[in-house]
Formats: sequence, structure tokens, C-alpha cells
Amino acid sequence: MNTFLEEVNDRMGGVPIQSCFHCRKCTAGCPIAFAMEYNPNAIIKMIQMGMREKVLGSSTIWLCASCETCVTRCPNDVDIARMMDTLREMAIESGVDAGEKNIVKFHEAFLSSIKMGGRISEPMMLVHYKLKTLDLFSDMGLGMSMFMKGKIKLLSPRTKDMGSVRKIFKSTDK
Ligand code: SF4
Ligand code: SF4
Repeated sequence: MNTFLEEVNDRMGGVPIQSCFHCRKCTAGCPIAFAMEYNPNAIIKMIQMGMREKVLGSSTIWLCASCETCVTRCPNDVDIARMMDTLREMAIESGVDAGEKNIVKFHEAFLSSIKMGGRISEPMMLVHYKLKTLDLFSDMGLGMSMFMKGKIKLLSPRTKDMGSVRKIFKSTDK
């Protein structure tokens, strides 16, 4: 019995992973597939084969940008973006090392920024990320150049409805 497949299906809900017939339309449209260790439909095959450690330790699940291109292309309505989210959660809960250095810290910094203002504040996110990784100066030149070109705003407006943001974070607290 493939308990890994069952667990992923149970946690995702919706169309079960085994509906995939490996047409690769998802992978053909994925803008990040070129950088992934295993492409999206390969991850599905690996789940079907019960390869838990390889999937949860793969960089692919962290590189997925949740753009949902794959979901719209899939003839069987397999929700790969949701599957990648589910796999990230499972990887964190299992304590598996992420296949991409510092990427979990990047996700944490991203969420901290959303939690504080309801939307991304680049300076806050950068500060969080740098403090978490203790890699304080490596991108200083690039950061300054982006700032000078107006690509990074010093102040980002907070969302008006912070109550809803707090509610979302509270409902997902484990
Ligand atoms: S597009 Fe859908 S059916 Fe085709 S390989 Fe991807 S997940 Fe499977
Ligand atoms: S949601 Fe993830 S896997 Fe799907 S197309 Fe976007 S980046 Fe690729």
C-alpha cells in the first residue's frame, strides 16, 4: 500500500494524483521547470511510486512559484500548485532538509512580511531574510543598485484590512 500517495491525496483534497496520465502538458508550460531537479509530472510519478524522501527532499517543491499555469493546462484538473504547497508543509513537518539552501528561511521571511503588513515590504523581507541566514552583506551592491533605480521601495503601504490577515494566520497556526 502506498501510504505516501494516500497522505498527499488526503491532505490536498480535490482530484486525486493518480488521475494524472503523464501527458506532460504541465511541465511543458511550467516557467520554472528548466531550473527544477525533477519536473512537475516527474514529482507526480515519484509520489505514485511512494518515493517519500526523494520528493520531500527535492528542491523542486521549493522552486515552484505557485503560478498555477500547470493547473490550467492539465486535462485532468490535477492541482499541482496545491500539491506543491502540500509537499512543502509535509517536508517542514517531517524535518526533511530542503533541497535548496536557505529557501525555507526565504519563505519564512516572505510570510513574516505579509503577517506584518498584509503585503510584501521588500526592505522588511530583506532584513528578515538577512538576519535569518546571517548572510548580511553578500547582495549589498545589487540591493543598493535596485534601490537607486526605484525597484525597492523604502515604505510599502499596509493593507487596510489587517483583521482579515490576522484571521488567516491564526487559522493556519498549528
Ligand atoms: S498535465 Fe495533468 S495529466 Fe498531464 S502530466 Fe501534468 S498533471 Fe499529469
Ligand atoms: S505552479 Fe509551480 S509547477 Fe505549476 S507551472 Fe507554476 S511554477 Fe510550475
